[in-house]
Parts: sequence; C-alpha cells; structure tokens
Amino acid sequence: MSFSAPPTPILNQLIIYDFDWSLADQDTDRWVLEVLAPKLRRRMKTLKHTTSIQYTDLVAQMMRELRALGHTREEVLAALRGMPFHPAMNRAVREMKARAAPSTDFVVLSNANSVYIGTILEEQGLQGVMQEVITNPAEWSEEDPDLLVVRRRVPREGKQHGCTVGCSANMCKGEELEAFVARHGKAFDRMVYVGDGANDFCPILRLREQDLALVRRHRGLEARIAKDGASAGLKCQVQYWAGAWEVEEIFATLT
Ligand SMILES: [Mg+2]
Ligand SMILES: [Zn+2]
Repeated sequence: MSFSAPPTPILNQLIIYDFDWSLADQDTDRWVLEVLAPKLRRRMKTLKHTTSIQYTDLVAQMMRELRALGHTREEVLAALRGMPFHPAMNRAVREMKARAAPSTDFVVLSNANSVYIGTILEEQGLQGVMQEVITNPAEWSEEDPDLLVVRRRVPREGKQHGCTVGCSANMCKGEELEAFVARHGKAFDRMVYVGDGANDFCPILRLREQDLALVRRHRGLEARIAKDGASAGLKCQVQYWAGAWEVEEIFATLT
C-alpha cells in the first residue's frame, strides 16, 4: 500500500512505539537470559510451548530463577545497556522530535516492563522524549534488591480487559492506546504505530484512515495483517520496514 498525502496539513502527530524488535533491535526478556543464563533462555522457550503459563508470569518466574542462580541487579542492567539498539532508530526519533512541524508526541506501548525499558531509554538518551511508557510494572525487591519483580499491567486479581482480538491477559494494547489518547486530551491529526508482533494487531485496528502502521517484516504482525487485516476491518495505511534505517527514511517523508 502506498502512503497518500492527507487533505489537510498535519500539525500534530502521535508516534506509538512497541519496544522489543521495534524501537529496540532485540527482545529484552529473551536477551537478558541469553546474556546471563542461556539454560534459562532454553527453559523459557520450552515452558512457553509446553505449558499455558501467561507470558508476563513466565517472565517473572524466569527472573526468580535467574536470581536463584546468583545473578545480580548490576548484571541485568549491564545486559540491558548492551542490548542492540540501532543508531538510525535513535536518530529518527530525535530528528522527528526536533522538527518544528509537525509537532510530535512519542509514547512507548510495550509488553516488556518498566525497568527494562527505562534502563534502555536512559542509556540511549531518549527518556525525555517519551511522554509516557505504558508497560508492565517492575521493581527491584525490597527484601532482595537483586531480584526484579515483574507484574502484569492488568493484575490477575480484579477486572480483566475485554479484548477479543487476542491480547494476552496482562494487557490489551488496543485499550491502552485508546485510554492514552483519551487522557491526553487532545486530538492528533495523525497517529503512527511502529510495531512487529502479533500483539500489535489489536492497537493498529484502532487507528483511522489517516493513520499509519509501520510494520516490521517477517514477524508476527505482518502475518496477522495478511491473515486477518481485511476481515477485521483494518483501516490505517500500512508501510513495511526491515531495518531501522528504513523507519528513518519513512519518518523523513512524514511532513
Ligand atoms: Mg515487539
Ligand atoms: Zn487487545
């Protein structure tokens, strides 16, 4: 699909970033284990495919097992700071934010967690650019400061989200996006969603015709759009990218 110019000038826009494999060039949950404890990385993969454990609960369990092996907070943070992050993506965000027009707000909408994302945004010098980071809450345990405690954004106790598109129980990214726009209190002339995963399908279904999804090639979101995009009524425009340098190119066309 090609991107056709909207009829009116774009004065303000919202760019929504998924984090793993979208803003960042790796998957935080898996990377930390690959760096520090490959056996746990294998165990995570096995448990994901052989049990019905919810994904965020699985990550929380892996962090407890990582701690039981003796790994520390500093090791986890160092692994995150060294995680691949494409310089072109960093540049693309800064250049867009610095432009006088359109004025751009950025938000992160991710199934990772607040400590992982905060650590990497700080390392990349991008913390001040993001208006909000919407993700699962995490904190270092008070009893054991080397244990990262990861919780679902939507707690297991209490009201669950009503998503029927396929979001995991911990968070409906579509509902979170709508709630962000509502509490932000201003209309955006254009919304741009950068994502790669199957769970980015629900939020891009909420986008309008003048909005744009920037979809990473060869991952779950591309497949989900091919399978269900038309029948689910996907309205936004779609452009595909494989490397961050292509997102930088596309951003340069968003006038
Ligand atoms: Mg992702
Ligand atoms: Zn959903």
